[in-house]
Amino acid sequence: MSHRVLAVIIGAGMSGIAMGTTLRQAGIEDFLILEKGTDVGGVWHWNRYPGLTCDVPSHLYQYSFAPKPDWKRVFATGPEIQQYHRDVVEQFGLGPRLRTGTTVTSARYTDPGWVVETASGDRYECDFLIAATGVLHHPSIPAIDGLDTFAGPVVHTARWDDTVTTRGQRVALIGTGSTGVQVVSALQPEARQVTQFARTPQWVLWGPTGLRQSAAISKALARMPSVNRRVYGTALWASGILADITTRPSWRRSLVQSLARLHLRSVRDPALRAQLTPGYEPLCKRQVVSGSYYKAVQQPNVDIVSAGIERVTETSIITTDGIEREFDVIILATGFEAHHYMRPMQLTGRDGITLDEAWVKGPRAYRMTAMPGFPNFFTLLGPNSPIGSISLQYTAELTSRYILQFIQRFRAGELTAAEPTEEATREFNEQVREAIGPTIWNTGGCNSWYQNEDGTIDLWPFDRKTLTAMLSTPDDRHFRITRG
Ligand code: NAP
Repeated sequence: MSHRVLAVIIGAGMSGIAMGTTLRQAGIEDFLILEKGTDVGGVWHWNRYPGLTCDVPSHLYQYSFAPKPDWKRVFATGPEIQQYHRDVVEQFGLGPRLRTGTTVTSARYTDPGWVVETASGDRYECDFLIAATGVLHHPSIPAIDGLDTFAGPVVHTARWDDTVTTRGQRVALIGTGSTGVQVVSALQPEARQVTQFARTPQWVLWGPTGLRQSAAISKALARMPSVNRRVYGTALWASGILADITTRPSWRRSLVQSLARLHLRSVRDPALRAQLTPGYEPLCKRQVVSGSYYKAVQQPNVDIVSAGIERVTETSIITTDGIEREFDVIILATGFEAHHYMRPMQLTGRDGITLDEAWVKGPRAYRMTAMPGFPNFFTLLGPNSPIGSISLQYTAELTSRYILQFIQRFRAGELTAAEPTEEATREFNEQVREAIGPTIWNTGGCNSWYQNEDGTIDLWPFDRKTLTAMLSTPDDRHFRITRG
């Protein structure tokens, strides 16, 4: 089947929903959101592992246009956030424009416009193509010798299998990131044994991650929407501290780092504490926040293994020190291929340039959202997005309004196509490279998924004010604009 619309948005995760809502609020109805999953929500749809919680406070982890007064917890659970996304889709009437179960396989610029093809053979023609395909989407499966020979279940946290039983089982958990930490805390009370393979321990900041929001607060915020909006505004303002402490050395950074070191002191056994002590600075990796992890690892049914994994057999994991341990289940909390933006979709821009050719030296964009050679194409949370420092919803909404301005000018007949110049893109990337220098992601002495293959850091090294300034009004001098 063939369809023609003004805009196609790929992905109905957090940022695709922000884009769709922004278009509808501007009175634009002529768009579709194509989503390969069976539901909206992006990471909150794909991730269903035990203990899934957001370690960003609920009143910050929401859209400015849909502040929710009655979060059940101060740090919401995955299912509650997923339900929030469904509710927003319904509240803002995105349902009729949403096509779930629709995998985009290719998109080609045809001058003018784009032709988008799906796995089921459908074809969409559109003037604007917007990739809201997410960052943490493709699970990273470690190349461990013998992993495929293990007789029990092997499950990646981002593709959880609800038929897997962990209660009363001997569970091997690989990984110490935000996910691994949450899974250990969740499984410890019910599993017979949890063994965490922690080749690189992470710093863990304490936070009240299990705290409930009282019904009285929920009621009061629901009765007073202006106060509820102010709570969101205050949370957003306060979150500025994260960009500050990660991007610039200061006493505030040192203070937060001291809090992480202090929290580690709650592990009483010196040998275990030594195993859990990272060899790099706090805040260097994406900071883990948990109020339960250090308690869980001190329970008798939890083991931390620091040695690397040599191989997996039918029943066990053998580490590089020659020790063999038997398990019933292996859980991979091994993270994501974070730089596989938009893949495996085949994206072809002007004059036949492919995404692989444009990104031969790694992901690169103009202000996270546009690329030379790809007219009328935009990304949400594209390369150099502030994944580790600024509210993602704020960023997605801001970028959506930026993209909207091009679409409005197109509708008004002021332009037919726009793409950033190579020069402006180079200049932006040079600014980023320079500003990354003093960030803790660069100076903290760690490896992390923030790094590209060549070691450069794929993050936003500026504050929210700079983000807002860069994505408020498009600067035509930075664009190659076609009219008429
Ligand atoms: P991650 O931070 O990339 O951690 C992956 C872990 O797997 C690391 O500890 C890594 O060790 C380990 N690993 C990989 N291959 C291994 C191997 N062969 N042997 C032993 N260990 C291996 O992944 P994640 O925990 O899924 O978190 C990814 C991101 O998702 C987070 O940083 C965060 O942005 C997001 N997230 C957010 C929340 C939330 O609450 N908001 C929750 C979960 C995740 P090395 O460090 O040694 O490579």
